[in-house]
Amino acid sequence: MTLKFKEPAPITDELNPLESMMKRFDEAARILGLDESTYNALKSPEKAVIVSLPVTMDNGKVKVFQGYRVVHSSKLGPSKGGIRYSMGVNLDEVKALAAWMTWKCAVVGIPYGGAKGGIQCEPREMSQGELERLTRSFTGAMRDVFGPERDIPAPDMGTNPETMAWIMDEYSKLVGQASPAVVTGKPLVLGGSLGRVEATGRGVMVSARSAMAKLKMNPSQSTCAVQGFGNVGSISAKLLERQGVTIVAISDISGAYHNEEGLDIEEAIEYVRKNKSLEGYKGGKIITNEEILELDVDILVPAALEDQITEENASRIKAKLIVEGANGPTASTADKILDDNGIMVVPDILANAGGVSVSYFEWVQNRLGYFWTEERVNRRADRVMKQAFDDVYKAAKKYKCSLRTAAYIVAIKKVADISKLRGIF
Ligand code: GLU
Repeated sequence: MTLKFKEPAPITDELNPLESMMKRFDEAARILGLDESTYNALKSPEKAVIVSLPVTMDNGKVKVFQGYRVVHSSKLGPSKGGIRYSMGVNLDEVKALAAWMTWKCAVVGIPYGGAKGGIQCEPREMSQGELERLTRSFTGAMRDVFGPERDIPAPDMGTNPETMAWIMDEYSKLVGQASPAVVTGKPLVLGGSLGRVEATGRGVMVSARSAMAKLKMNPSQSTCAVQGFGNVGSISAKLLERQGVTIVAISDISGAYHNEEGLDIEEAIEYVRKNKSLEGYKGGKIITNEEILELDVDILVPAALEDQITEENASRIKAKLIVEGANGPTASTADKILDDNGIMVVPDILANAGGVSVSYFEWVQNRLGYFWTEERVNRRADRVMKQAFDDVYKAAKKYKCSLRTAAYIVAIKKVADISKLRGIF
């Protein structure tokens, strides 16, 4: 099967997630009047670890994989962020994703710094045994980086609760005691939290609702296209549909599926559960992953990869509201075009922060040894997301800027203030 999303690599100056992150950081730092020493301290990651991971494959041959963990900041608390298994993984991408985690945790006000990990591999072409050996080898190599009070991984693209179970088990063996709080997004029976699997998509829905209220959009008269049908895209689509929004298009690596009358999202999720992808799905007419972004809809949820909305296609986007489910789906070069066209963008570091918020709740429950009901998890997560949206919206009014710049302002100010208080330069 060929990959039909625009690939994040090759990295060019305009389409490099690190460049995109830095441009937004610079703009917010300028508006805030950030002093030079704080600017310099926040700009580069605290730590970047690159490891080579030899893994015996099922055919008996040893293959060596490159693994990365970047800790961008641990000023607000232990660093937090997922681990990505994808061929597109490279140091610049992981650095950008790590910084985004710092800003994301700061925007929603949870006591974590930011980190990200990644292994350059193609998980779809690896057996469970190969993936397990790779994950255990990575955990061993990161033994001094990870830790419940130090650096806490979680799932991201290409990884899932099972991957987290292997990390938890390997780390616990290495330190000689059960350490569930070293990783979040675990299966429920191993100390995972109710609501964690749905948390990112739920946060996307809650952010979309907050934005729709500001734009006076009625959910039951609104249409939406969702690019990406993994954990984030599928659940965002399902929960928006439950709010009355008509989901007219969805997509995955097999292509995009469009039906003006609206798709049945529960049915599409069931189709993917049985068939592994949307390939062969008959719910709508087939269009491309580029065309889905340009449909005449009210809401667009990019929930696939980085750099899908660029300088090239931004002017053709018709949605009034973009809610970024993915990390970095909009290249910084597209920001001004979207702003000039009056499109409200709920940025990734706000819109998809529901996942890390419930990761925080999972970590809290692990440390308490006391587990919450799903209702309590969802209620608290919704409150966090609504509060964060209101804070960012207020900052956008105060500084007369986009929600994206406002989210960076809120986050950078928090991290800068705390860094100054701690005095660690
Ligand atoms: N990978 C997710 C993200 O990008 C979750 C991170 C976490 O829960 O630590 O936000």
